[in-house]
Amino acid sequence: MTAVDPTLRATRTTCPYCGVGCGILATPEAGGGAAISGDPEHPANFGRLCSKGSALGETLAPDSRLLYPMIRCGKGTMERVAWPDALDHVAHRFKHIVARDGPDAIAFYLSGQLLTEDYYVANKLMKGFIGSANVDTNSRLCMSSSVAGHRRAFGADTVPGCYEDLDEADLLVLVGSNAAWCHPVLFQRMLANKQQRGARMVVIDPRRTDTAGDADLFLGLKPGTDTALFSGLLVHLADTGALDRDYVERHTSGFDDALARARGIAGSIGATALATGLCEQDVAGFFQMFGDTPRVVTLYSQGVNQSAQGTDKVNAIINCHLATGRIGKPGASPFSLTGQPNAMGGREVGGLANQLAAHMGFTPPDIDRVRRFWKAPRIATHEGLKAVQMFEAIARGEIKALWVIGTNPAVSLPDADAARAALKKLELFVVSENVRSNDTVDAGAHVLLPAQAWGEKSGTVTNSERRISRQRAFLTPPGETKPDWWIVTEVARRLGFGAAFDFSSAAEVFREHAALSAFENDGRRDFDIGALKSLSDEAFDAMAPAQWPARENAPPQQRFFTEGGFFANDHKARFIAPEIPALRTETTAGRPLRLNTGRIRDQWHTMTRTGISPRLGQHLPEPFVEIHPDDAVRFGIVDGGFARVVTDYGQCTLKVAVSERQQHGMLFAPIHWSEANASTARVGALVAPFTDPFSGQPENKATPASIVPYEYVFRGFALSRTPLEMPAEAPQVWWTRVAVVGGYGYLFADNGDLARWQSWLRSVAGDDLAEYKDLGGGVYRAASFAEGRIETCLFVGPARDAGDWDVVKHMFAADRLSDDQRRMLLSGKSIDGLASAGPIVCACFGIGRTTICDAIAAGAGSAAQIGVQLKAGTNCGSCIPELKRLIAQAGAVAPAGEEQKLAVATS
Ligand code: SF4
Repeated sequence: MTAVDPTLRATRTTCPYCGVGCGILATPEAGGGAAISGDPEHPANFGRLCSKGSALGETLAPDSRLLYPMIRCGKGTMERVAWPDALDHVAHRFKHIVARDGPDAIAFYLSGQLLTEDYYVANKLMKGFIGSANVDTNSRLCMSSSVAGHRRAFGADTVPGCYEDLDEADLLVLVGSNAAWCHPVLFQRMLANKQQRGARMVVIDPRRTDTAGDADLFLGLKPGTDTALFSGLLVHLADTGALDRDYVERHTSGFDDALARARGIAGSIGATALATGLCEQDVAGFFQMFGDTPRVVTLYSQGVNQSAQGTDKVNAIINCHLATGRIGKPGASPFSLTGQPNAMGGREVGGLANQLAAHMGFTPPDIDRVRRFWKAPRIATHEGLKAVQMFEAIARGEIKALWVIGTNPAVSLPDADAARAALKKLELFVVSENVRSNDTVDAGAHVLLPAQAWGEKSGTVTNSERRISRQRAFLTPPGETKPDWWIVTEVARRLGFGAAFDFSSAAEVFREHAALSAFENDGRRDFDIGALKSLSDEAFDAMAPAQWPARENAPPQQRFFTEGGFFANDHKARFIAPEIPALRTETTAGRPLRLNTGRIRDQWHTMTRTGISPRLGQHLPEPFVEIHPDDAVRFGIVDGGFARVVTDYGQCTLKVAVSERQQHGMLFAPIHWSEANASTARVGALVAPFTDPFSGQPENKATPASIVPYEYVFRGFALSRTPLEMPAEAPQVWWTRVAVVGGYGYLFADNGDLARWQSWLRSVAGDDLAEYKDLGGGVYRAASFAEGRIETCLFVGPARDAGDWDVVKHMFAADRLSDDQRRMLLSGKSIDGLASAGPIVCACFGIGRTTICDAIAAGAGSAAQIGVQLKAGTNCGSCIPELKRLIAQAGAVAPAGEEQKLAVATS
């Protein structure tokens, strides 16, 4: 494998989104974009990409980039400054604050989007040289419960298995993981195993997601009861002779206590059913499947981690694998799926406040070892503040200076309004960013430092199976953007630490990171990539994906713990007796529901990248709340209408999706929207800031909430070649921005009057408008044209008759409209007689739900048949679960073997 494929002239790099870590071939194109395809040689994806990865080429030339360093001047405005001035300013202010208030008055908040090299220098600067461990990361919100669970059980943060286990398992158990949407390429790999080898799949989730659509057994348990389910399983394994007593005896300790506790939590199938809200038959079926299947992989993700009992949930799962010796063996392991592209790299360098560096903690020997390696006399000697506590300390005024690098905490933290308010109290608030504006930047940053983005920066990331891959530059960095490792290094030098930050390339940083991992290791620590510590610059540039450990003079090692060898002093794993599971808060008469939050298929984090892709904006363009039909009736909520969701922390107004996939008493809302792209959809502001006592990870899945219907008189949409501001005098306007081909789309709803929209349109598009008015009927439609195409258009109407968004969007995308098309535009209907395709299901080929439902009604009874007729589902495969759901809803029956054909064809 070479960095640049000479036949394609493509650069080999790695996807910047989820923890699957897919390899990508990127070929720059004229105009700043790139052709993107899956790397057939990368062992994470073998050429496959999901909808998000496939659309990366649409996200490369945004006009919203932060191009120059900026400092807030005396008048309060941001002004462009030269790099040396910005760096001097940051270093000078840090020095002053440390001298006055001590090192713990400073904090860094990092990101799972950073490259390992960026993470390494930031962690080294703060923990080694400033002398505080107040370095935390948005990975705290993602998988820190898995880290804590691993460390309690294994003595180290070790992922025992690898992706090949998903091919080789006979039973795949997914817990709190909507892998079909959040880890789509791995999910397709699991489906291939199911279809080709007959592996069975169990999905455990309070919400019937698209992942559950392929399950042999779906367990829709009550929220927060995973520990009870796996405690019941441990009891069942013990009582039915399914334990691997030899493994337990030789390689573990604490089994009897853990089993006793499990009996107290869920001592029988009946007790488990009672605790989890499942029926006994389903519980018994799952227990039997697990007990009877030696090759079982249990995959867990945010539904387990994002919990105030997340660490106990992780350990309850691991207990069952330790008890059966199903760990580190082909097709048998517990498996944490990481959400972010480099959450694992951040864990490697120690980018969490309760780790020091290179999988070493704050024990005296580890502190001494890292101190000597870094030559760092001021090294931090105790854990720092984890994310939620860090922002609470900012709010109390204890932390005076914060450097946020590559993340958007004003959107993503729980109780996000409080987090945003805390930012305003900072004496120094530095943000390293790609974009000029987001909720965090707009919360009052004092210094903005322009960082290079994906495609421009170069370094390494580590995926969920411990595989280190290169992200390589293939684009010219715009403006004065710089790599994050360079920015941190320059500040470190100005703080007087030049000798320890003498890096001139990402390769140099990587070599030091690798050397630290091997320093006085001798097999005592899991993370060791000493074999890579002497890579030349050329070898680093050409580095093929490599799994760790990669010890010097040792053979490759794919899995851990096959024969024990845990990282405790006695080399034994620990069974953990979990606490009796209980959610931190009860629902009340005022807050009778529980709010669950999560991701959707085609968006990533706060949409600063995916939100500019027209293709990805088609699937679910509006922020929404999902509710069960019975609850909808109970609270007067209507499908397609609006509702206000209220918690003790904030409120949002969201579009309503009524769905039986939602459990009674639960709401679901996606996390992606912010104030940059919607009026009232910053869901982080609703989430309770309760955290797990071991991991510090917040509970994002069960905040008590209420819901009330909310009505708007008018709905509408606007399309424009340039960004628009919604009417400033109308704060009650509900709106969301959507990327569309050729410009910007806005969907809105309002209780004002039509005259407002008429005058607003004239203010943004001028007076030269073609208009259609039916003021009595509440309809106003208007458009301006330039060079034969639509320049700006506005459609406003009564709630159910605002015009056909999909049809008008299609006409907006055209380079030139015919005279007939221009005349017919304001009718809101296509003159070609084409009905709207409906909301897009297949993002790759732009196939809408209406078109798909028509094909199903005409006889297509399988995803394969839909693929043949419409091409939907035949590229990345991310929409196949939704195709199957539409078929199931229509009651159509797939002929035997058809689904398998499609899965094979797209794999
Ligand atoms: S599954 Fe999709 S988002 Fe995740 S790494 Fe692969 S292409 Fe990127």
